[in-house]
Amino acid sequence: MSVKECSNCQTRITPAWRRGKNDNLLCNACGLYEKQNNKSRPFEKLKNGLTKVYKENSIVNHKCTNCKTEKTPTWRKGFNGQILCNACGLFYKQHNINKPCK
Ligand SMILES: [Zn+2]
Ligand SMILES: [Zn+2]
Repeated sequence: MSVKECSNCQTRITPAWRRGKNDNLLCNACGLYEKQNNKSRPFEKLKNGLTKVYKENSIVNHKCTNCKTEKTPTWRKGFNGQILCNACGLFYKQHNINKPCK
C-alpha cells in the first residue's frame, strides 16, 4: 500500500483527497483552492517539515526599496514608510542612513 501524499503541499493528513488538473493527488485544502482559484495553492516548506500556507491576502510582492531583494525573513519600514528588507531595515534603524548596496 503506497502512502498518499498531496502533490502540492506534501501533506499526508487531510480529511479528503482530491484531484488536480493533471489528475495529480491533492489534499482537501489544495484541491479546493485549485478549484476555486484555478492555480496551485501557495505554500512554504518550513525547516521542521511542516507546511505553512500563506493567507491569500498576505501574498504581496514586496521588494526592498534599497537593495531590491525579494527574500527576507521579515519586512521592515524605513524613512517615509518605504519597504525595507530585514538587513536594510536594521541598518537604517542603527545608522539612520540606507545600507550601501553591494
Ligand atoms: Zn495539499
Ligand atoms: Zn534590502
